[in-house]
Amino acid sequence: MALAHNPEKALRTDCAGCRRCPLAEGRQQVVLSRGNPSARLMLIGEAPGAQEDASGLPFVGRSGQLLEALLVAAGLDSAQDTYICNVVKCRPPGNRKPTAAELAACRPWLDRQVELVDPALVLLLGASALDGVLGIKGGITRLRGQWRPWGSRWVMPLLHPSYLLRFGSIEPGSPRALTAADLRAVHARLKRLDDLAPPLDSGG
Ligand code: SF4
Repeated sequence: MALAHNPEKALRTDCAGCRRCPLAEGRQQVVLSRGNPSARLMLIGEAPGAQEDASGLPFVGRSGQLLEALLVAAGLDSAQDTYICNVVKCRPPGNRKPTAAELAACRPWLDRQVELVDPALVLLLGASALDGVLGIKGGITRLRGQWRPWGSRWVMPLLHPSYLLRFGSIEPGSPRALTAADLRAVHARLKRLDDLAPPLDSGG
């Protein structure tokens, strides 16, 4: 009897051996995803850091713990409600930003993830995700919290949790408070998804 095809496992196996860009040289392992491949909400960050490179899971270091706390506070369960990944799957040396060439080399893996998960809502965490996914350079603080169409999906840029770690304040208007409010809006939209029409496909 033929074994059932498992697209997630196939993607994981294919990506694990990728050497399309120089980041393959310094990595311990490819960091593909965590969470639920059937989730309707996908979070896309920048690239793995040291703890992610060691564990093979995205967003498990300090910024991941802060993200987890913010998701919980917004009523979201990361294991059930979200699928979490990065635009670049291997750790850049010294945690530098991925280059344009690395973003481009890794994009086909992200495209396969989007095709696999088929999320209705996508969150872009930080400037590299905004650039890597939508090709928008800069403006994350101006664009955060705003929904925009991306093909048949809705996408919202958010401040990156590693940026939020620089600010302890949760006063109204602080980066953490703004992000907490953005995630509450995300949860509200997630709950209303069945009542919302998807955006007209803009080909993005
Ligand atoms: S960063 Fe992406 S393109 Fe580069 S080696 Fe890793 S998986 Fe391949």
